[in-house]
Amino acid sequence: MTSASLENRAAALNSQLEGLDLSGRLALIASLDGKSVFTTSLGIEDQVITAAIGTGKHGIEVSTLETGRLFNETVALIDTTEETYGILIKRFYPEQDDIDAYAVKYGLNGFYDSIEARHACCGARKVKPLARALEGASFWITGLRRGQSGNRAETPFAEADADRGLIKINVLADWDIETIRAHVVAEAIPVNPLHARGYPSIGCEPCTRAIKPGEPERAGRWWWENDEKRECGLHVAETATSTIPQTSSLSSSPLSSSPLSSSIAR
Ligand code: SF4
Repeated sequence: MTSASLENRAAALNSQLEGLDLSGRLALIASLDGKSVFTTSLGIEDQVITAAIGTGKHGIEVSTLETGRLFNETVALIDTTEETYGILIKRFYPEQDDIDAYAVKYGLNGFYDSIEARHACCGARKVKPLARALEGASFWITGLRRGQSGNRAETPFAEADADRGLIKINVLADWDIETIRAHVVAEAIPVNPLHARGYPSIGCEPCTRAIKPGEPERAGRWWWENDEKRECGLHVAETATSTIPQTSSLSSSPLSSSPLSSSIAR
């Protein structure tokens, strides 16, 4: 599909999705001609989507990126979620060669030292595995929401991802965190226990901290970087990640304040 036709199709889908509830959105996506993949980070909004896919029997593929540096609680939640909804969550792991090469060049925890090193780690552990998770997909379902950060404030329901040659669909774009929490309680959806300990947004263990009252939801992700638009590269265009500055932009050393994991992978 050309970039222009992707844009046109995304615009049409955006209008269709806006008037539907979550179940209706997923049913519409499942009816489209082409493979749909939902990638979950096991975060609270992603659990809402997984629960809807599982209970609605939509037949949408569910995948996750097992980076090797997730919290134990997150890894355990993958199993719990599969059992609860009787679904398979496909795990995509980084290539060992990429991890070894990263360690040689930057060090195991080199991501603290520069933005270049951090993006290289996310590239090996997240972006490359994501490419495998999305192989053959026409539609990529995500849990991106407008309320997660200023960087995501304009998140549409559907958008063309020309680099990946697919349409990204953000089925919870208009849900706020209070609605998400109420839905989780009402539907008894299993969630990561870390949310109750001050982690509204949960990524890899060494790169996530609890937030303080009043901080934005994603303030605990890569907290040592000054860039307010920090992301892992999954939801930004390749052209953006290729312009990563080569110099460090650190507000303070995280090594003195971070509860570092002592092991690289489980
Ligand atoms: S979040 Fe941290 S540990 Fe995880 S892939 Fe990115 S830099 Fe590496």
